[in-house]
Amino acid sequence: RSKKKPQKRKARFDFTKVDVALLPTVILVGRPNVGKSALFNRLIRRREALVYNTPGDHVTRDVREGIAKLGDLRFRVLDSAGLETAATSGSILSRTAEMTENVIARSQFAIFLIDVRDGLQPLDLEVGKWLRRHAQGVRTIVAMNKSESLDERGLITAAAGEAYALGFGDPIAISAETGLGMAELYEILRPMLDDYMLQLPKNEHNQEDTTSEEENNEERKLPLQLAIVGRPNVGKSTLLNTLLQEERVLVGPEAGLTRDSIRAQFQFENRTVYLVDTAGWLQRSGQEKGPASLSVVQSRKNLMRAHVVALVLDGEEIAKAKSSMKHAEVVIARQAIEEGRGLVVIVNKMDLLRGNSLLIGKVMEAVPKEIQTVIPQVTGIPVVFVSALEGRGRVAVMHQLIDTYEKWCLRLPTARLNRWLRKVMSRHSWKDLATQPKVKYFTQVKARPPTFVAFLSGKAQLSDTDMRFLTKSLKEDFNLGGIPIRIMQRSIP
Ligand code: GDP
Ligand code: GDP
Repeated sequence: RSKKKPQKRKARFDFTKVDVALLPTVILVGRPNVGKSALFNRLIRRREALVYNTPGDHVTRDVREGIAKLGDLRFRVLDSAGLETAATSGSILSRTAEMTENVIARSQFAIFLIDVRDGLQPLDLEVGKWLRRHAQGVRTIVAMNKSESLDERGLITAAAGEAYALGFGDPIAISAETGLGMAELYEILRPMLDDYMLQLPKNEHNQEDTTSEEENNEERKLPLQLAIVGRPNVGKSTLLNTLLQEERVLVGPEAGLTRDSIRAQFQFENRTVYLVDTAGWLQRSGQEKGPASLSVVQSRKNLMRAHVVALVLDGEEIAKAKSSMKHAEVVIARQAIEEGRGLVVIVNKMDLLRGNSLLIGKVMEAVPKEIQTVIPQVTGIPVVFVSALEGRGRVAVMHQLIDTYEKWCLRLPTARLNRWLRKVMSRHSWKDLATQPKVKYFTQVKARPPTFVAFLSGKAQLSDTDMRFLTKSLKEDFNLGGIPIRIMQRSIP
């Protein structure tokens, strides 16, 4: 039985199919240091930003512009941060006033950021006043940034009251740094941007597909198969309930919809997630609870059905212990990577450390460090700190899982890889070119996980050092951190 209420939706516009020139423009405004640049960077992800000077007086003012991607939404985003920092004098009023002609006029929407930690400052009120006077046609959303900290719930509530008084409607709590609140931002923007696009003349937005080769990758839209693993009592079930929220669709054996290894299915930002049943994972070594019914073999098979493995750790235990990961946890993390799965580490029960910034700091430092030590071959495995019990961290966790999944699905065009290869070959001091094989050609043979073949001249294999360099460059240049990529070597005579 589905608990999902059938909701009547207005027409949804497909932003992925529209010419970027026609996309609506959202400007990020706010006093300095509220996090405009951080939000800008998050919205454009690894896309390129265009930096340009606004024509005007003697002061060089940089405005960054990029194409934002938020779920299936696309819009043009402008970061006004450069305007303020580059201005040499004048109050925020005169500085922001300088934006009028050049930038605000091009925007249909604004995200007005405030810093939830500072509460409303006089400068925030000035920005608000100015927006009301000079940007009347611009629909404005107030975002309380830096809301990610666990011990600031009281603060957030207080700030929401203040922010509401700005007169731009209900504020949303976000964290540009962790991604918290991006779902809420999407929910607010979606109908606004839909309305905007749908009121454009019909044939204007029926343009050809402008997505690039790389983005035109259907695989990443397939359902994500997720396994949640960890020792007993770390909070796996609680986390699962948090992730499912009200969207839970239980897939009972009687439904016969899916194989019995799929325990639940839910939606997040238009994406389907299947939960792979991992009963038995690490329960065997655990003493406290759970029938050790499933064999390890069965569990391993289920792990193989997962695309991404979420390994849950107990943050409170880590705060007290010397090393952050127990042996069983190290084993499973390694196994996930060896099996070519994406791995996301979730440190739970952070609420129990509330108020103790020393311990919080210790945990936040120790876990990524230890992961790196036990899995040296994969750098940048994401670590998310949450409180499943309080329902906090859902969006951050989901975004990490999805990001990992998308990287795991990535397919890079051969032409692009070989342009990259030529650059890399010149960057590295290959030890002894006379005896070293040369990489002639590089291609991706499969995705999920990304697997590459390096074609070498001569019979010899690359040295470990060179191989590490190649792997590292590939990861850095294509943003594949945290993903168990594979490179095979083939000789060509
Ligand atoms: P801007 O001047 O408005 O563009 O602000 P920046 O994006 O440069 O951010 C100012 C400072 O706030 C930087 O040190 C950021 O790292 C920090 N910051 C931005 N967003 C967040 C957030 O969500 N949480 C926290 N804790 N810090 C943030
Ligand atoms: P599982 O065995 O890994 O599925 O763990 P459970 O989800 O059953 O949680 C074990 C215990 O830890 C329960 O008493 C939960 O209420 C508690 N718990 C789970 N998550 C959190 C959390 O984020 N904070 C706190 N304080 N307790 C939690």
